[in-house]
Amino acid sequence: MARKFFVGGNWKCNGTLDEVKKIVSILNEAEVPPEDVVEVVVSPPFVFLPLVKSLLRSDFSVAAQNCWVRRGGAFTGEISAEMLINSNIPWVIVGHSERRLLLNESNEFVGDKVAYALLQGLKVIACVGETLEQRESGSTMNVVAAQTKAIADRVSHWENVVLAYEPVWAIGTGKVATPAQAQEVHSELRKWLHDNVGPEVAASVRIIYGGSVNGANCEEQAAQPDVDGFLVGGASLKPEFIDIIKSAT
Ligand code: PGA
Repeated sequence: MARKFFVGGNWKCNGTLDEVKKIVSILNEAEVPPEDVVEVVVSPPFVFLPLVKSLLRSDFSVAAQNCWVRRGGAFTGEISAEMLINSNIPWVIVGHSERRLLLNESNEFVGDKVAYALLQGLKVIACVGETLEQRESGSTMNVVAAQTKAIADRVSHWENVVLAYEPVWAIGTGKVATPAQAQEVHSELRKWLHDNVGPEVAASVRIIYGGSVNGANCEEQAAQPDVDGFLVGGASLKPEFIDIIKSAT
């Protein structure tokens, strides 16, 4: 089953208004493969989301970096899935390792959040990935499977889910996983989905890689059979993001 290449740009907690406008104008001027070849979704901080959405070319989409786990209400500082839908924001990133580790988001909490966001009609980039300690102790697949299971236990429709494998040790460190390391986890994850969710979901869900992806290493990663795209942090704020989008072909 053909899986459309997916490139996400996670801007994290970066950017001034001027910088954000500049990135958008670089994106808007770029020549990239057509929409049926690559799906591009950028994720600015909440306050810039409506502006970026209004300025951004129509073949690119936007994602929030987080949303609340259930219906909104008395949860100071949170943004609900309903609010994103109401603001025509189609995507949300859930379970990024920075939130799992710095804000103690558990597998179950992330699973609940994915399920609730999907139920409200959002499309979800759900992140999984092991720490260096976990990799070195040989538990990468157990960790990633447990994170994915917490999602699978709560979700029955996977059409609107993109799974992002982001080893924590590769995020923002310049230490990219080798193409073989990425391929190994992606194919194991697909096998896990096959055995635990079903063959159709395993064949159709896009599994993207994140962690120090840049213009120089993206081609080789993109050539791996189970790498269906990227979630890019640092390099998504730079013109080389265009090269990463072009690695789709
Ligand atoms: P990085 O971040 O590309 O800066 O390593 C990736 C991510 O956190 O999604």
